[in-house]
Amino acid sequence: MYHLECIGCHKRYEPEDIVYTCQRCGDLLDIKYNYEDVDHQLKSGEWKKRPLSVWRYKELLPILEESKKISLNEGGTRLHRCDRLAKNLGLETLYIKTEGDNPTASFKDRGMTVGVTKAVEYNVKAVVCASTGNTSASLSAYAAKAGIRCLVVIPAKKIAYGKLSQAMVYGAKLIQVRGSFDDALKVVLELSLDTNRFYLLNSINPYRIEGQKTVAYEILEQLGGKVPHKVVMPVGNAGNITATWKGFNEFKKLGFTDSLPKMIGIQAEGAAPVANAISSGKEVIEPVPKPETLATAIRIGSPVNWKRALQAIRESGGTAEMVTDREIVDAQKLLARYEGLFVEPASATSVAGLKKLIEAGQIAKDDNVTCIATGHGLKDPDVPVQFCEKPSEVEPTLKAVEKIVGNQQ
Ligand SMILES: *Cc1c(COP(=O)(O)O)cnc(C)c1O
Ligand SMILES: [Zn+2]
Repeated sequence: MYHLECIGCHKRYEPEDIVYTCQRCGDLLDIKYNYEDVDHQLKSGEWKKRPLSVWRYKELLPILEESKKISLNEGGTRLHRCDRLAKNLGLETLYIKTEGDNPTASFKDRGMTVGVTKAVEYNVKAVVCASTGNTSASLSAYAAKAGIRCLVVIPAKKIAYGKLSQAMVYGAKLIQVRGSFDDALKVVLELSLDTNRFYLLNSINPYRIEGQKTVAYEILEQLGGKVPHKVVMPVGNAGNITATWKGFNEFKKLGFTDSLPKMIGIQAEGAAPVANAISSGKEVIEPVPKPETLATAIRIGSPVNWKRALQAIRESGGTAEMVTDREIVDAQKLLARYEGLFVEPASATSVAGLKKLIEAGQIAKDDNVTCIATGHGLKDPDVPVQFCEKPSEVEPTLKAVEKIVGNQQ
């Protein structure tokens, strides 16, 4: 049905091999399908009767035993047409895909439903991940649903409270390391060398990418087959832009669409190795030793999927941009105040980047743009509480309230 292939040396692995990266050259693995078979299975039209969700596209997912599926009804997130925000930005057509609608409130659930189902197929006893927050929230929930043990390694500082509370309530074993996300990842990579003890579900895990690519299918279906000119999304470890690009390509390969969008990756200024490589035309990224940004979900200096992210951006004719924390907070407010959509800071980078690229003339007024808002705003309530106007505190009298309300008219 499928096999795995190294993106560097093209060595082939079979579904029963529990491998994360190539054992010959160390590069990442991609999952390959026989698209003629997939095409044949899709011909019956059975898939179109299923609700919009990750599993609507199960013929394009690398799962062998469907009865082992671990699902919390992920995917099927809303695609909002955002005319008020579009007008403010000087754009005609803007859509925002709110991935915060997922069960644990970020897109990570799309990958975890597939990854944890695979863990159950492999009959593993425990799963592990390093995380800036959302990966741990998601993995903890799916591990709970599957009834398997979950270990989460996170940086000791700057984990958003919403995310931390999720991992805690779902019952994962949480370990904080005194270091960055990149340090946490190093530790879990060593730990998961023994696959009999821990199955690793970081984004080097090829199965997660497969679930995440379904966001592209959904966008195309929600737009009625119309392909956006530009898709703008945040980039941290760069798995999601890799996955989204794969999804668009597969729908084209299967004949559902006839063109591809340009992929635009947005990073925070203090953690922008991919954007730096794109703007300087480099073939490889230069890791950022001490990544800094209030958008903790993309506070990553050494993205695992950098190679495929550069490829997706370049192949598609897209670009990358970086934004400051100030621009991120402003964009978060803009989206909330023009469209009623509350997204977390990392997700707001897509709107911040879009604004910048429109101002720079790199996105045209008549471009049809879709931004992916990767996670819900309640994940990290500290940021708006810090950066928005505080409530006015007064005596509980009509006079006192009138004084404030009156002033604002
Ligand atoms: C994980 C995450 C990202 C970054 O995605 P990558 O696949 O690591 O590039 C962006 N936004 C949110 C909310 C996330 O949880
Ligand atoms: Zn290899």
